[in-house]
Amino acid sequence: MNDYPDVLLHIDGHWRAGRAGATLPVQDPATGQRIGSVAVAEREDLDDALAAASRGFDTWRRVPAVERAKRMHEAARLLRERADAVAQLLTLENGKPLSEAQAEVRFGADIIDWFAEEGTRIAGRIVAPRGEGQIAQVFKEPVGPVAAFTPWNFPINQLVRKLCGALSTGCSIIAKAPEETPASPAELVRAFVDAGIPAGVLGLVYGRPDMISSYLIPHPVIRKVTFTGSTAVGKQLAALAGAHMKRVTMELGGHAPVIVAEDCDVDRAARISAGAKFRNAGQVCISPTRFLVARAVHERFVAGLVAATEALKLGHGLEQGTAMGPLANPRRLDAVQRLTRDAVERGATLAAGGERLGTAGNFFAPTVLDNVSRDCRVFNEEPFGPVAAVQGFDTLDEAIAEANRLPYGLAAYAFTGSLRTAHAISQRLEVGMLWINQPAPAWPELPFGGVKDSGYGSEGGPEALEGYLNTKSVSTLVL
Ligand code: NAD
Repeated sequence: MNDYPDVLLHIDGHWRAGRAGATLPVQDPATGQRIGSVAVAEREDLDDALAAASRGFDTWRRVPAVERAKRMHEAARLLRERADAVAQLLTLENGKPLSEAQAEVRFGADIIDWFAEEGTRIAGRIVAPRGEGQIAQVFKEPVGPVAAFTPWNFPINQLVRKLCGALSTGCSIIAKAPEETPASPAELVRAFVDAGIPAGVLGLVYGRPDMISSYLIPHPVIRKVTFTGSTAVGKQLAALAGAHMKRVTMELGGHAPVIVAEDCDVDRAARISAGAKFRNAGQVCISPTRFLVARAVHERFVAGLVAATEALKLGHGLEQGTAMGPLANPRRLDAVQRLTRDAVERGATLAAGGERLGTAGNFFAPTVLDNVSRDCRVFNEEPFGPVAAVQGFDTLDEAIAEANRLPYGLAAYAFTGSLRTAHAISQRLEVGMLWINQPAPAWPELPFGGVKDSGYGSEGGPEALEGYLNTKSVSTLVL
């Protein structure tokens, strides 16, 4: 079956092709077959989107927050109503199992509901005056039209946080969504449009990423830039934004350490680790990646991880029972093959997987590498694929030093039965997010973002809205 659409741009309230009529093909990563196309925006299309975003901002900033919230709740309702159909598209274009796609769409709706309510709580303050007749006020105002760039690994959930940050604070937004997985983000935008978000407030474009970012970011209409993707691209875009003094939120790569202490429930830790590791075939910025395991439980942990890994059923995401789909594109397949080969050549033990499966589609067996030394590339470069790399440790200090060694600082995990160990880890790890004794539900009410080379700013919690607000202080002397 293939009900995949030819995906259009959304500019100034209209779904339309690019001015030049150009398109890019979209493929099913499980088969390599072309399933549809996506429209390509030219500069003239971007000019239209910018002019619309400017008008849209003037309109939307004046809409009361409670009214904005009502329309966002309606978008959430529509998205839930359409969840099965949207999830189907998401699986076809990205490859993830249908159950994961459904969860992503429904969680997207929950994120919209949370941001809608949080937007009604934006408040300034009145500061104690310094003299008779003085009024000192602080206002929070929407920053202005936003340019957002989102990736293919969570086509709905990477975009929904940015749309919600903008819409809940009164900003307009132009999103460049991923060309490889364009249909599900288009359906997310459709839910907002059908919910009554006015024309111009929400633009959607696709095309050549570098052309679009280098045109939008410096453009005087754009007041804020938000990007999710690799650290290398994030640094380029942040530099461009800096040169034009634009506000920036960057959600970039990670290389999450997992500290498995000897006092933890080892079997449970292995089971949870496998579930978290192979979700979305490991193409997750917060995916657990460097497993640092206390020597006393090392063997048992690896045995549990391998057993859970080998039990995973690979297949097309639309097939019932599929636990892991293909990688989303051939680039990732090449990358994980290279990293696995390098580790084995440097002496790591291949405990599970390690090879491409079949020749059609981008399937790579879920892989466990044990006794991985620090010089292996997989212990230094973000694998962004289904590869778990394990190393033993003797002391907690050693594990924490290894966890902090890389320039990344996005997510980390720890398994321990000791409050003392949990506290030490929570105080000393240089990361934006830490999950202890559990996988990683990224609840919208919690901050979501990293430190060091993993970026700055947040995509969750009240901090996420702060990123879309300017602060203005007004001091009045009443005469
Ligand atoms: P990539 O660096 O080429 O692209 C990453 C994303 O950035 C893509 O969505 C791409 O369209 C976009 N992009 C690339 N150049 C751009 C530009 N000049 N302007 C605007 N957008 C641009 O890498 P890739 O092969 O697509 O993905 C692999 C790497 O990307 C991974 O190793 C991972 O580090 C990172 N990634 C991270 C996340 C995340 O959730 N933080 C998501 C997807 C990819």
